[in-house]
Amino acid sequence: MSKKAEILNVPIDAITMKEAIRKVTSFVEGDTLKKVYTPNPEIVMLAQENKELDRIVKEADLVVPDGIGLIIASKLKSKGLIERVTGVDLMHHLLLYCASNHKSIYIMGGKPGVAEMAVTNIAAKYKGINIAGFRDGYYKQEETESVINDINQSGADVLFVCLGAPRQEIWIDKHKDQLKCKVAMGVGGSVDIHAGTAKRAPEIYQKMGMEWFYRLAKEPWRFKRMLVLPKFLIKFILKG
Ligand code: UDP
Repeated sequence: MSKKAEILNVPIDAITMKEAIRKVTSFVEGDTLKKVYTPNPEIVMLAQENKELDRIVKEADLVVPDGIGLIIASKLKSKGLIERVTGVDLMHHLLLYCASNHKSIYIMGGKPGVAEMAVTNIAAKYKGINIAGFRDGYYKQEETESVINDINQSGADVLFVCLGAPRQEIWIDKHKDQLKCKVAMGVGGSVDIHAGTAKRAPEIYQKMGMEWFYRLAKEPWRFKRMLVLPKFLIKFILKG
């Protein structure tokens, strides 16, 4: 078990990207479902009020710090987080592993057409990967059972759930006993990045921990959502 850093009572694995890759790839070889989440400060703040989300994160098998705000907070109070481990980067390494080990993946989420574009691009980029299936994330509630049957019948080893947070974490938790895959990972907007419908910030922004700024400039309507970051830091300084 890796060390956990408690950020406002939310336990996050204090691991490097390398260790996270080792862990998640070992999960693929296991025989029970492992739940992997990639929270940012927004989720940590939501978990303060939402007890269900708090429990869900606490019951995860791997929780990686996706968000520079978590790293800054951890440094301020020596909580032990080592580096940022983003969902999109961890997904990339998991896809590389699946490609070289002939594992299969299923992508669920994104607007109609987006998951299909994502798996097409993934199949071209990660040669050898087995695409078990895909499904958009806008089906009706009553279709959930058939979506789960499709995922299970596909025989996928890894399921990427891309419904945005916290919807994806709640979805994984709700269906954890029905899912037959080895890994269910909540990776939000990664489906859009693989589909090419959204672009990741250039590397320079990523290295400087300014990815959020790039995203804000491209999608200014996110401003309100991003106000949570200063609120998170203030709360963390006072209580964390
Ligand atoms: N989404 C979905 N079903 C929904 C709501 C959202 O499939 O009911 C998808 C949405 O199309 C997008 C992803 O979930 O592809 C969320 O992306 P966003 O970047 O907002 O999430 P984040 O990564 O910031 O949590």
